[in-house]
Amino acid sequence: MRFTRAAVVATAAALTLGLTACGGDKTESGGTGTAKSFAAGSTMEKLNKAQAIKVGTKFDQPGFGLKGLSGKPEGFDVEVAKIIVKELGIPTDKIEFVETTSKIREDAIVNNNVDFIVATYTINDKRKERIAFAGPYYEAGQNILVKADDATITGPDAFKAGDKKVCSVTGSTPAENIKTYVKDVATQLVLFDTYDKCISALDGGQVNAVTTDNVILLGYVAKNEGKYKLAGDNFTKEPYGIGVKIDDKDFRSFINDTLEKAYKDGSWKKAWDDTAGKFGAELGSAPAVNRY
Ligand code: GLU
Repeated sequence: MRFTRAAVVATAAALTLGLTACGGDKTESGGTGTAKSFAAGSTMEKLNKAQAIKVGTKFDQPGFGLKGLSGKPEGFDVEVAKIIVKELGIPTDKIEFVETTSKIREDAIVNNNVDFIVATYTINDKRKERIAFAGPYYEAGQNILVKADDATITGPDAFKAGDKKVCSVTGSTPAENIKTYVKDVATQLVLFDTYDKCISALDGGQVNAVTTDNVILLGYVAKNEGKYKLAGDNFTKEPYGIGVKIDDKDFRSFINDTLEKAYKDGSWKKAWDDTAGKFGAELGSAPAVNRY
């Protein structure tokens, strides 16, 4: 066996975590499949033995999870998912990415449609009633996107007069938060299942603005030079977590350990620099994981 850097890192990781690396199997593009001994019966052991994994992410969010011409989603969330999958000893080309729009995320976890979700997924108590979160691994904040020449909307208060329409995504935290600013929800708040549909509605003049997390909006700004801008400052905090089954504490701990390791070894920062970091958003310092 040729000792690639990935194999050395995977082996070192296994030793750090007190695991036994039993062998390596180099694959073309996805890193090294490594049989590791995880606790019997754990999700980690099950996934490592299967050498297959389903990860939920977004397919329409530039910089975080965007499925383009390559047919594979790309972005910071995708890279964070790959860091976790590698630590499980599974080559990243064995990942099956499943589109998990905002509304279906909890269901996808509860119904076993995915093994975990990395999808600009804000940690909050309501969601924690059905699933659990590892992380956070990033903190975003809600903002508003408008056309570049729009000087009338400078923040969420612009919706209080009742004449401006704003689009967001069903089941997202920004769709809920914006209701406190909108005078008439029935006529002013337009909801779709994906953000790219909101962008089309803005282009078509059906709405005046799109609201969600700043980093998602910055992706659209960067992808369409000169067309859109952000209208003011962030007005919420959106800590992003990794969704897992509510009772799978061991898997959650494993993901938290993996995040802390990625903060230290530079892979978290590299994931950012290669993706969303190119779009003008700040990474900030590594957020402390919450081991509740
Ligand atoms: N972070 C927010 C949420 O989890 C908005 C982004 C999204 O819809 O994924 O609801």
